[in-house]
Amino acid sequence: MATIVLDAGHSYNTPGKRSPDGMREFAFNRAVCQAARKKLESQGIRTILTHRDDRDVPLKERTDLANREKAALFISIHANAYGSGNWNDVHGIETYIHSKNDSQSRSLAEAVHYSLIKETRRKDRGIKTANFHVLRETVMPAVLIECGFMTNREEKKLLASEDYRTLCGHTIAAAILTFIGVKKTLYLVQTGAFSSIENAKKQAQALKNAGFDAMIMEK
Ligand SMILES: [Zn+2]
Repeated sequence: MATIVLDAGHSYNTPGKRSPDGMREFAFNRAVCQAARKKLESQGIRTILTHRDDRDVPLKERTDLANREKAALFISIHANAYGSGNWNDVHGIETYIHSKNDSQSRSLAEAVHYSLIKETRRKDRGIKTANFHVLRETVMPAVLIECGFMTNREEKKLLASEDYRTLCGHTIAAAILTFIGVKKTLYLVQTGAFSSIENAKKQAQALKNAGFDAMIMEK
């Protein structure tokens, strides 16, 4: 089964990396990773966290761990900032892949990014390329997601909320599951078995009349 690396950018103590009113970026990143981890592990996916609560793990240590563990995907989670530390209007979600722009990372970015835009209804700032260490030094498909701006009052409120953190984590996990091809379990409800097609049709019609979907299958 695949191993997925979840990387919460920075740590509690990283200088800067906080909203104008003091929310630490790491608190957001870490909570999103936790939510994503729970959902992935509930589907039998192994996850590895590269961050630590007690120190800012150097970037090389993070990518070395991912490479050593032969992870299938590397997912780095962040919150964005703009300007020199004051509130401003810049807002939205953007996702980064390395400028070498390999097709696997691009598809992964598309899966995660557009799911997030759809579920959060934040502004789509697009999929961008950058020469970030965690994207460059990882040998597996890698994306870095900026889930909103800490320097925007409205988005900072979201970034500080449990609901938005859980939504981002679950959406990212669901996109990963789709990307690696883990199928959702579907539960079928059967309401009858008939040897005559006419009786089967009657039952299907009765269900439709009652407002349910119905489908006839041969067995
Ligand atoms: Zn960051």
